[in-house]
Formats: sequence, structure tokens, C-alpha cells
Amino acid sequence: MSESREVFAAQDLSEGGEIFRRLNPPARLAIFGDPVAHSASPPMHNAALREQHHKLQYVRILVKPEELSEALRNLSSADFIGTSLTIPHKQAALALIDEITPEAKLMGAINTVAVRDGKLHGYNTDGLGFVAAFHEEFSTGLRDKNILILGGAGGAGRAIAVQCLIEGGIPSIANRNKSKGDLLKALIDQEWDDYAGILKSLDMSQETLAAALKSTEVIINATPLGMKADDSSPLPDGLLNADHIVYDTIYSGGETALLRQALFAGAKCANGFSMLLHQGVLQNAIWFGEPAPLETMRIALTSLKGTTS
Ligand code: NAP
Repeated sequence: MSESREVFAAQDLSEGGEIFRRLNPPARLAIFGDPVAHSASPPMHNAALREQHHKLQYVRILVKPEELSEALRNLSSADFIGTSLTIPHKQAALALIDEITPEAKLMGAINTVAVRDGKLHGYNTDGLGFVAAFHEEFSTGLRDKNILILGGAGGAGRAIAVQCLIEGGIPSIANRNKSKGDLLKALIDQEWDDYAGILKSLDMSQETLAAALKSTEVIINATPLGMKADDSSPLPDGLLNADHIVYDTIYSGGETALLRQALFAGAKCANGFSMLLHQGVLQNAIWFGEPAPLETMRIALTSLKGTTS
């Protein structure tokens, strides 16, 4: 019995997915992405599956955008329990899934699919994964906090913004392309009576950010700025202070420029490792209907460096 390191192809799921049934243990969970070779999800999920004594494994499947629809449709006949979705499939999957949670609809993205009675059910665990990570890192919640989400109209940012509203927070989203943030605000204000009028959409100019930070308690980076070692911070220098809480969703590589600014200002801060862990923990619970082995998954992830979901 061993965990496959192979990157499988979307067409391997066709004709009953024989190749996955022949593995020992058989593969019945996967991550779909393009690229997918460097994903950290298989070691994290396989550690959980071993601990839970499930006789199945989780593999990587390279699914190109044009293959996504058929790959999802083939999951059931290949006897899969579900799949994780990563770049570039999270948004495209919305139109291809039978049942989607209301939260995932507003988040505009699905990162988890569960197959039940031949139907595909779509979830988004990024928002709740962020909330669990935030509690773990800072021993506090988001209720009534003013929250600024940089890149809040992007995939991860939007999931976090919607979840912050659900948690009773007061989020603002700042976007390079402000019209995207305006659209998200309009959608939430129209579709979601309970949260209408709370979300603000801002531009990312120095003046706007400086003014917003005066009343902001929590700053979240959901832009990719910081993924490369020489990336600048999405925030101008000198705006953070010791009362701020800074969460950078980036988990690959070392300290980002934003985290360096936070440390310099004496602010509390954390990187996206804990969100990566908790979104995976929630996926396992969706597939198996029982609590996932959090510490086992944490150890499996900690042993990896410079990885992606
Ligand atoms: P995405 O959908 O492409 O969204 C990226 C957002 O960042 C958009 O709002 C985009 O604005 C903005 N942006 C891009 N480049 C920028 C720049 N140079 N300056 C300012 N804003 C910029 O990407 P995503 O999938 O949400 O991923 C975003 C980040 O979240 C990545 O770093 C990823 O590692 C992280 N993430 C972490 C986790 C975790 O579990 N820790 C999970 C998911 C994602 P425009 O729309 O104007 O282009």
C-alpha cells in the first residue's frame, strides 16, 4: 500500500476510472488543477485518510479548463467520493455542479465537490477555513471588527469577504480594478437582504488605503503580491500600527513584504499556512461527515515547504 506521486490525466477518469481502482489503496479523492504537480493537498489529505483508516487515497489529476466538465461528470462512474478544485477551476465549476451551497454561490467559487447518489455537490471551504485560521492565530473572532481585504474581489478575497459578513464583521474590499469590487458589492446588496449595505468597495490608492486604515482593525492580503520573494507589499509603508491584526493568505515561501511591515509596526500577524490547513480540514469533514484529524494534517503540511493547495 503506497501513496501515488503520479500526476494523472483527466481522461484517466473515463470508462469507469479503471486506473484508479487498480491502485492500492484505490484513489477515490483527487485535486483537479492546471498546474497541479506541486500541490500540497495530497500529502495533507492522505495523512488524514491513513489516520481515519479509510482504505483509499487522494491523487493529483491534471485537468485543463476544457476538460473540467467531463472530468466532473466522470467522478461518479469512477467511484470517486469527491474532489478539490484549484486554479483555474474554482469559478468555472459553478456552472457544472448540481447543488451549490448559498455561500459558495455568493463567493462565486467552488473549491470542494462531493459526489452523492450520482449528483455533484459544491462547497467553498476557503471562507470558513480563513475564519478557523484567524481564531487559531489571534484567539479572537471577526464580529463587529472593521476588516480591510486587499484584493477582495479576487477568488480567495471574495470568499473571505462573504464569510466576514456571515461572521458579523464589517468588511471593505480594496481592488486594483475597483469596478470588480463595485460589482461584488452590488451583488451582495441586491441578493442578500441580511447583509445589504455593509460591504464597502474601495480603490487601492495610497490616500484611500491610508484613510481606511485609520478605522480598520484587521487587514487581509488576498492579492498574489508576496508570492515572489521580491514582490512589494500591497500596502504603502508607514500605515500599520501595533493595534492592527494582519493576515496574509500567502503561504508559499518566507515572510512577505506585508508581514515585514506588520512586524516592524509591532502588529499581530500570520501567514496563510493556517488557512490552507483549515480549508483542507473542512473538506475532509464534508467528504466523510466526521471531524478531520487536524493535528495529523498539520504535521503533514508542516513537513512541506513552498507548496500550493
Ligand atoms: P485571483 O482570483 O487571481 O485574485 C487575485 C486578486 O488580487 C484580484 O483581486 C486582483 O485584482 C488582485 N491583484 C493581482 N495582482 C495584483 C497586484 N499586483 N496588485 C494589486 N492587486 C493585485 O487569485 P486567488 O486565487 O484569489 O489567489 C490570491 C492569493 O490568495 C494567492 O496569493 C493565493 O496564494 C492566496 N490563497 C491562499 C489560500 C490559503 O489557503 N492560504 C487559498 C486560496 C488563495 P484584479 O482583479 O484587479 O486583477
